[in-house]
Amino acid sequence: MNARSGAEELLKEKGLRVTQPRVAVLAYLAGSDHHPTAEEVGAAVNRLVPTAARASIYNVLHSLKDAGLVGELFFDDAVVRYEANVGRHHHFVCSSCGGVADVPWDALPPLPKRRLPGGQSVVSYAVTLRGLCPRCG
Ligand SMILES: [Zn+2]
Repeated sequence: MNARSGAEELLKEKGLRVTQPRVAVLAYLAGSDHHPTAEEVGAAVNRLVPTAARASIYNVLHSLKDAGLVGELFFDDAVVRYEANVGRHHHFVCSSCGGVADVPWDALPPLPKRRLPGGQSVVSYAVTLRGLCPRCG
């Protein structure tokens, strides 16, 4: 199964209409692990689907996010990043180049307590680790 047919299947499973821009965006995100910004997604997808206007890239990303097919990430740089990996995982952000990498869920020990000192009960969490990536370190 190639990335495009995989993307079509996912759209159908979620009851979303299969459109060229949705397929292109989802296939691009599924094949990239660098957590691109909307701008970067737009630039890459426009090479494949030249008709995909900038506004429609945002609409596509929002509909994919609402359907649970892509994740939105916010780090320090005030831009939104996207990923097709919606399973549980953590992130590593390089303080030098700003690169963002996935960290497998079981690379870190689980939270020992699911109830915080303030009484809040935790239902989900993900950790953002910071430091230097292998290229910068
Ligand atoms: Zn990720």
